[in-house]
Amino acid sequence: MTDAAELQERTRALLAAHPPATTDRLDFLRARFDAGLAWVHYPAGLGGLDAPRSLQAVVDAELAAAGAPDNDPRRIGIGLGMAAPTLLAYGSDEVKSRFLRPLWTGEEVWCQLFSEPGAGSDLAALGTRAVRDEAGGDWIVDGQKVWTSSAHTARWAILIARTDPGQPKHRGITYFVCDMTDPGVEVRPLRQITGEAEFNEVFLTGVRIPDAHRLGEVGDGWRVAQTTLMNERVSIGGARIPREGGMIGKAAAVWRDRPDLRTHALHRRLLGLWVEAEVARLTGERLRQQLVAGQPGPEGSAMKLGFARLNQAISGLEVELLADEGLLYGDWTMVRPDLVDFTGRDAGYRYLRSKGNSIEGGTSEVLLNIVAERVLGLPPEPRNDKDVPWKDLAR
Ligand SMILES: Cc1cc2nc3c(=O)[nH]c(=O)nc-3n(C[C@H](O)[C@H](O)[C@H](O)COP(=O)(O)OP(=O)(O)OC[C@H]3O[C@@H](n4cnc5c(N)ncnc54)[C@H](O)[C@@H]3O)c2cc1C
Repeated sequence: MTDAAELQERTRALLAAHPPATTDRLDFLRARFDAGLAWVHYPAGLGGLDAPRSLQAVVDAELAAAGAPDNDPRRIGIGLGMAAPTLLAYGSDEVKSRFLRPLWTGEEVWCQLFSEPGAGSDLAALGTRAVRDEAGGDWIVDGQKVWTSSAHTARWAILIARTDPGQPKHRGITYFVCDMTDPGVEVRPLRQITGEAEFNEVFLTGVRIPDAHRLGEVGDGWRVAQTTLMNERVSIGGARIPREGGMIGKAAAVWRDRPDLRTHALHRRLLGLWVEAEVARLTGERLRQQLVAGQPGPEGSAMKLGFARLNQAISGLEVELLADEGLLYGDWTMVRPDLVDFTGRDAGYRYLRSKGNSIEGGTSEVLLNIVAERVLGLPPEPRNDKDVPWKDLAR
C-alpha cells in the first residue's frame, strides 16, 4: 500500500525530473499522469497508484509548494467529475487507456448529453434513439439533448439513449461515448440568465458510434448513469476548497474591504453563513475521504443540496451588502465561455449564476426526494409508470 511518505518521494522525483519552471505545462501534466500522481486513488497505469483517496492532498501540497501547473476543473469539470469515474467503472481496458489521460490533462474536454426537452428530473423518460446498423456494428443515434454545458468546447460526450422502447423506461437505455466532431452533431448556444451561453442544445442526426464506445451492457445504461449522476453531485457540491474559499470568501472580502457598507444585521447574517460554509466544507472533506473511486452514495445529494442553498444565500447577501453597487452588472455581451466558474466575475454574476445551482445536477426538490428515500429510509414517491413499456407511456 502506498503511504504518504512514498507519495511525497514520488512527487519530489517528478518535480526533479520535470522542473515546473522549465517544463512545458502540458508535458508536466502528462508526466504527472504517467507517474500515477494525477488522481492517486485511480489504478496504476491510469494516472493513479491505487492509494487511498485522502492521500491526494499530500501530492497536491507538494506540487503547489513547487509552483507546479495543474489542470483546470473549471474547464474540464464534467470530464473529471463525471465522465472519468464512469469510464473507470464501466469502460473496457482500451476505452480507459484511450480516454482517461487526455481527459485529465485537459487535452480533451467532455460534456454530458443526458437532459432532453421532455426528460430532465424524469431523465429515464428520454427519447433519443440508438439503433444498431444493419451489419450489427455501429450504433446510429437520433434525437435532441438540451442544457448541455460545454458542448461547444467538447471533444467527447457521455450520452444515454434509448435502445429498446419496448422495455419499461429504466430498462431500455444504453450508455455511450459520443464523438462531438461527428458530422451529425449540431451544437446551438442557449443564452442563460447571466447573459452568456454556457450551455447548448444539441441535435443528433444519424450520429455513428462504434459498439466499442458503449459503456456497460446494452439496456443497462440507467445503472451506468447512476455512477455519473452520483459523482456529478459530489463534483458540483463537494469540490475541495480552502477555509473561506468559494462563495463565502467573496462576501467576507467585501465585509473586510468596505467598512462603509457594514451594518449590524448583515454582520450577524454573514457570520451565520460563514459558519455554515465552514461546516459544509468540512463535511465535503469527510465525504471525499469516505469515497472509493467511482462509487459515491446518496450522501452526495445532501452535500449538493446544501451547496446550492448556501451559494444562493451567500451571493444574495453579497449583493445586499453592496447595496446600490450590487445592482450593477458588468457585461451582458453574449459569450460562449470555455470555463464554468460559479464564483467568478462580479457580485451580480455570482448572484445570477448561483440560481442554476439548485437545478443543475438534479434539482433541489429531486435531491430532497433522494435524501428522504435513500438516506432517511422514508417511503418512496409513488411511481406508477415504472413497469409500463416506454413506448406506451403518455407523452
Ligand atoms: C446551469 C445548468 C447546467 C446544466 N448542464 C447540463 C449538462 O451539461 N448536461 C445535461 O444533461 N443537463 C444539464 N442541465 C440540465 C439539468 O440536469 C436539468 O435542468 C434538471 O435535471 C431539471 O430538469 P428540467 O430542467 O427538465 O426540469 P423539470 O424536470 O421539468 O422540473 C421542473 C420543476 O419540477 C420539479 N420536479 C420535477 N420532478 C419532481 C419530483 N419528482 N418531485 C418534486 N419536484 C419535482 C423540479 O424540481 C423543478 O422545480 C443543466 C442545467 C443547468 C441549470
